[in-house]
Amino acid sequence: MTPVLEAVGLTKAFGGLVAVDNVSLAVRAGEFLALIGPNGAGKSTCFNMLMGQLKPTQGRIRLSGEDITNLAPRQIWAKGVGRTFQITATYPSMTVIENVQTALLSHYKRLLAVVPYAHYLYRDEAMALLEMVSLAEQADRHCAVLAYGDLKRLELAIALAHEPKILLMDEPTAGMAPSERVDLMRLTADIVASRGVSVLFTEHDMDVVFSHAQRLMVLNRGQLIAEGSVEDIRQNALVQEVYLGGGATFKE
Ligand code: ADP
Ligand code: MG
Repeated sequence: MTPVLEAVGLTKAFGGLVAVDNVSLAVRAGEFLALIGPNGAGKSTCFNMLMGQLKPTQGRIRLSGEDITNLAPRQIWAKGVGRTFQITATYPSMTVIENVQTALLSHYKRLLAVVPYAHYLYRDEAMALLEMVSLAEQADRHCAVLAYGDLKRLELAIALAHEPKILLMDEPTAGMAPSERVDLMRLTADIVASRGVSVLFTEHDMDVVFSHAQRLMVLNRGQLIAEGSVEDIRQNALVQEVYLGGGATFKE
C-alpha cells in the first residue's frame, strides 16, 4: 500500500554540517511512529523539511504518492500534513472554543473577515473536538488562563480540525510534567486510532516512547541507525550505545 508520507534520500546540509543525511522513511496509514535520537541528531530538521519549512538539499517527499517536495508550508498543510508546534500556537485572547472554531473556519476556507463572528459558527463541531480532548468544560475560558497541559490538548484539537492525513508532532510533550506527558500521548494514540490519522512524533522521554510508539526509527548524527518495534529498539546494541554510552540497557 502507498505510504501516507514517504521521504526518500532526504538530506539537509547547513554549510559543511550534514544535519540530515540520506534519510528514507515511510509512514503507513494509521501508524503511530516515533523518530527518536539524541539532541542534535537531526529530528527537527527532518520535520521542518517534511512540513516545508526547510528546503531539502537532496531527496524527495511524497504524500499519498504525490510529490510535495519544495511546496510551501501552507500548501503542504492544505494537502493534509497537520502539525503541532513545539511552541504552542493558539490565540491567547480568544476562548478555547473560539480557537477551535477559527481552525474549522480556516479548514472550510471561510474568509478570515468572518472571524469576529466565529462564535456563531461550527460550535457543535468545535465542541465535539473539545470533548475528544477532554476540554469541553473549559470551552468558554480564555486561552491565556489555561494550564500548559490544557493548551497542548487544545493544540491537538486545532490540528484535528483540519482533518489531517498525518500529524507531525515535534516534541509535543516538551515542558510537561512526566504524568502529563503520558496522558497526552495516550490521548493522542486513542484519538488517532479512532480517526485513522497517522502520526510521526519525536519525544525525548524514552518511557513515553516505549509505551506508545508502534514502530520507532532512530537518528544519530543525521543518519538512521535503527528501525523496528519497541522490543527491537530496546535491545539494539547500537541504540543503547548512542543513548546510554554502552554498558547499560534500557529499563524494562
Ligand atoms: P534535533 O531536533 O534532533 O535535536 P536538529 O535537527 O535541531 O536536531 O539539529 C541537527 C543539527 O543541525 C544540529 O547540529 C544543529 O545545530 C544543526 N542545525 C539545525 N538547524 C540549523 C540551522 N538553521 N543552521 C545551521 N545549523 C542548524
Ligand atoms: Mg529538535
